[in-house]
Order: sequence, then structure tokens, then C-alpha cells
Amino acid sequence: MDFRSLLPLQAVDQRIAQLEHRKVQLPEHAAASSAAAALHTARVEAERLVKRQGDITGEINRLELRGKELDAKKAKYEAQLKTVIAVREAEALQHEIAGVAGEHSSLDDAELILLDESETLDKRIVESRAAVPTLEAAAEQATTALATVLAAVDAEIAAANDERNRLASAVDGETLALYEQVRTRMSGAAVGEILKGSCGGCRTSLSVKEQAEMKKVADTHDARCPYCGCLLAV
Ligand SMILES: [Zn+2]
Repeated sequence: MDFRSLLPLQAVDQRIAQLEHRKVQLPEHAAASSAAAALHTARVEAERLVKRQGDITGEINRLELRGKELDAKKAKYEAQLKTVIAVREAEALQHEIAGVAGEHSSLDDAELILLDESETLDKRIVESRAAVPTLEAAAEQATTALATVLAAVDAEIAAANDERNRLASAVDGETLALYEQVRTRMSGAAVGEILKGSCGGCRTSLSVKEQAEMKKVADTHDARCPYCGCLLAV
């Protein structure tokens, strides 16, 4: 086995891991999400305003109809009033007329409030519709920006994977299998050099005796850092 041949392979593996990490952490993800959310909110708000406007129109129509009914009722009572002679009956009719007038007045008040709201809504609907194209353009731009950077990172990852395949094919099968096995179990480096008397994986200082023992078992299954367990290229 040749542990030293693993060092460039590990370097490219680390680069691939960094690129994969960068890919998910791209700020363009958040920008695209927030632009899409802003567009969605604006569309929902525009729909809500239009729906409310529809409800108000329906309610105003209902009040208008009721108003006409009350007008007819009032006209009927007033006509009856001209024909009655009995004071009691006249009083009863006048009471009815007053009741109808009271209801009509309440209707008119409610209608005025609704008309007022309707006018405000008209303005808000215009504003909210006007804002949508800008938000649509911003969302599209953010999506495109994200796709562009993702494509760039993917290209880097693909190139790194090509390099990895090239490097891996130069490593003997047994060494490569051991590296892959150690790599899945290690969170840090799977292979390291002894640098200035320390393990390149965990930076723990190795004694002169430990280093001498490592040299004896170089490129075997026993050439492992006693502290972190990484393969040591002596
Ligand atoms: Zn170590």
C-alpha cells in the first residue's frame, strides 16, 4: 500500500465537500426564496382585496334592494294613511312609517361606510396590481441568479470529480479500499502526514518513539495515528 498516494485524493475530496457545502449555503437561495415569498404575498393580497371588493359590491346591491323594498313599503303606508279615518289606525301607520324610515336611515349609513371602503379598496387594488410586475421581475431575476451560480458550482464539482477519478485510478486497490473505509468513519481527515512531529489529521504531537514505531509499520494497516485513528503517510 502507498498512503502518500492518498494525500492528493483526500485534498480533492475535501474540495468536493467544500463545494457541496457552498452549494447549499449560497446566499442566492435565500434571495430567491424571499423574492418568491414577496411575490406570493403581493398576489395573495391583491386577490384578497379584489375578493373584499366583490363582497362589498354584493352587500351594497343587497342594501340597495332592501332600500327599494322599504321605499315601496313607505309609499304603501303613506297611501293608506290618506284613506284612513280612525285616529288609532292613522297612528299605527305613522308608527310603521317611522320604523321604515329608521331602517332606511341605518341602511344608508351602512351603505355610505361601504362606499367609502370600496373607494379606498379601488386605490389599493390599483397599487397592489401595479406592484406585481416589479416583484415578478425581481423573483425571476433572483431565480436566474441562483441557477447561474448553481451551474457554476456544479461545473466545479464535476471537474473535481473528474480529477478525483483520475487520482483514484492511480491509487492501488487495497490502499483505496482502506481509505474509503476509514473516510466513512472519520469526521476529520482520513489520512495525514507527520508534520513537524505532529499528526496531520488531529495535530496531536507524536513522541519520537511513536514516530519511530510508525516508520516501522509504514503503509500497513497499523500505520494509524494513536490519537485520531487516521492513516499516517510516513
Ligand atoms: Zn491524529
